[in-house]
Amino acid sequence: MTYAPTIVWFRNDFRLADNRALLEAEKRQKPILCVVILDEAHLPGAAARWWLDRAIRSLDGDLRKMGGSLHVFRGPAGQVLAEIIRRTGADTVVWNRRYDLQGRETDTAIKAGLRTQGIAVHSFPSGLLHEPWCIRTRAGGQYKIFTAFWRGMRETHPTSFPPAPAPEKLAFAPFTSQPAGLLPPQGDYGLLPTRPDWTGGLQEMWMPGEGNAHNRFAHFMRDGLGTYAATRDFPAKNASSRLSPFLRFGHVTATQIWHGAAAQGFPERFLMELAWRDFAWSLLFSTPDMATRNLRPEFDAMPWRDDPAGLARWQQGQTGYPLVDAGMRELWRTGWMHNRVRMVVASFLVKHLLIDWRQGEQWFADTLVDHDPASNPMNWQWSAGTGVDAAPYFRIMNPVLQSRKFDPGGAYIRRWVPELAHLSDEAIHAPWESETPRGYPAPIVDHRLARERALNAWKTMGNTAAYGKGMS
Ligand SMILES: Cc1cc2nc3c(=O)[nH]c(=O)nc-3n(C[C@H](O)[C@H](O)[C@H](O)COP(=O)(O)OP(=O)(O)OC[C@H]3O[C@@H](n4cnc5c(N)ncnc54)[C@H](O)[C@@H]3O)c2cc1C
Repeated sequence: MTYAPTIVWFRNDFRLADNRALLEAEKRQKPILCVVILDEAHLPGAAARWWLDRAIRSLDGDLRKMGGSLHVFRGPAGQVLAEIIRRTGADTVVWNRRYDLQGRETDTAIKAGLRTQGIAVHSFPSGLLHEPWCIRTRAGGQYKIFTAFWRGMRETHPTSFPPAPAPEKLAFAPFTSQPAGLLPPQGDYGLLPTRPDWTGGLQEMWMPGEGNAHNRFAHFMRDGLGTYAATRDFPAKNASSRLSPFLRFGHVTATQIWHGAAAQGFPERFLMELAWRDFAWSLLFSTPDMATRNLRPEFDAMPWRDDPAGLARWQQGQTGYPLVDAGMRELWRTGWMHNRVRMVVASFLVKHLLIDWRQGEQWFADTLVDHDPASNPMNWQWSAGTGVDAAPYFRIMNPVLQSRKFDPGGAYIRRWVPELAHLSDEAIHAPWESETPRGYPAPIVDHRLARERALNAWKTMGNTAAYGKGMS
């Protein structure tokens, strides 16, 4: 065995199995250095930083069981890698690819810089079903409609490549001297809030890590997959997989999930959701500024309201609409929110409060543990009607009807808005119609007036489509 080690640079892929960069490192039969680089320019929002902290500790623990460890650095990635190479004589760097523009630009620059120094760099597909440029229209373009993307994917790539196993045996290289930027093992990585520490709810709810991801998936396959299509929209039922943060941090890959689930027949509804994630990444790849630009440019003229007080009440779950408040409080406490409720709160912010969807997108980016740079803006643009395959703007969700339909017994509301727990199943969706309980606000806006205001604002952009089509 020659000594020059291989650096395995972990980014959004905190796992051993189905990790192509790691497998390549194993194949090279040289000692490896497993590193994470906390580069300020690429760190996620506050809740996801908590997850990142746990993800690092968990992978470190798994590598220790194999006789190694994960070395955690802080600093600009290019400089840190150069320092590691200088200290260790490493001659190869491997990583799984990032697909957001900032990640791609950084990686391209680093790759070019390392290659000029004679360092080999190899990159590999990351945790999607297919890389974001793979599923294209016949003419080679970007699919704009999800159903067409799904059809195209099923026709041209009926299955994703099989997941790769975890490496059996790894040889680890030591650091013989202390490189700049290396943080003490299992110490403080500077990712957690201190004053105050608001992560109690996250700690109660989640156990990040590769083993926990697979346990959760196995549990879902056993108890949830069979009823998923029928129950996924009911937030009190706990019926979806809750794998999103595990996917976000790459504890498990979409490929592993696809193959695991597809082995149980073809649970189309569930597999389609995984494909929505790929669709989001393909959109972000072709429109990298999707988090800041209306994909329908006519919405640039939309007269959004500047309403910091309304935004704050939405963020704090104090709008007076029980389902909206339940969702926003679930998000604040656990870093996650049920998909149906995400749609309701997003619609409420954009249409009832007429606040620019980008303000909601940013709040989610900071508070979701599963914040994903592609799925979040795509879904916000879907909810706001500004996206390519989006709910039409004039379809305005009624938060009370949504509540009656998807939380009929009010169990979800009772859990997150305890001030309303004593109300009857009928009264809980619109408490102001009977009594507004002490400590719970009156509605911030009247639904009928807010709906009218939203449609009038939309009309100022020159739209005349029949209002009758709107949900009420
Ligand atoms: C306004 C808004 C913002 C959102 N922001 C994010 C985000 O930042 N990160 C994120 O992962 N999801 C986001 N979603 C999509 C969806 O709400 C979550 O993926 C889902 O709630 C996660 O729960 P689950 O793992 O139980 O999903 P399941 O129903 O079990 O689905 C399995 C997996 O499919 C993927 N998936 C499901 N629905 C979607 C979807 N609509 N778009 C893209 N992928 C999907 C997720 O990776 C999910 O883990 C957002 C949705 C809305 C309406």
